[in-house]
Amino acid sequence: MTDKTKLILMSCCAPCSCGAIKQLVYDEIPGIDEFIVMFFNPNIFPESEYQKRLNEQIKYCEKLGVKYIVGDYNHDDWKKAVCGLENEPERGARCSKCFAYRFCFAREYARKHGFNAIASVFGVSRFKSQAQVDVAANESCGEIKYLPIKWDENLRVSINRELKFYRQNYCGCEFSMRK
Ligand code: SF4
Repeated sequence: MTDKTKLILMSCCAPCSCGAIKQLVYDEIPGIDEFIVMFFNPNIFPESEYQKRLNEQIKYCEKLGVKYIVGDYNHDDWKKAVCGLENEPERGARCSKCFAYRFCFAREYARKHGFNAIASVFGVSRFKSQAQVDVAANESCGEIKYLPIKWDENLRVSINRELKFYRQNYCGCEFSMRK
């Protein structure tokens, strides 16, 4: 048994995660001994959009020398998980299910690979509710500790200005595409 905190940082895209990753690289979050970025986003549609976000994420991780893992992209399975909630608004029940689906994947990965903490940037966007993300995480992470870290928004904005990532204008799934 180790006392070290080994964290999985769940990311939805580079524009949301860049500040958090940089803070972790520069040890700005006390008590984290090791971390990895997890890109598990089968919610993203279409697949071409998924690839664009993934490519940006990989480029940024490699630029900073950060380890990352990429979960399988199975959008059909994800759609089954949110079945019946397609017409829910953003921040509604579909999003809770979507967060839980991804946190459960991280929990299983953590159990298998010796990680003992999970955090995310799922609540960073102004279209998201951090409180909703926290509830889904606390209900899904089991014995793996969920860390509701408040990331530095100014840092995130300044990295975005500097690096000009590919930036989407909707959360991810087909039900969140804005008219
Ligand atoms: S709007 Fe975003 S968080 Fe909500 S279900 Fe769609 S992809 Fe998931």
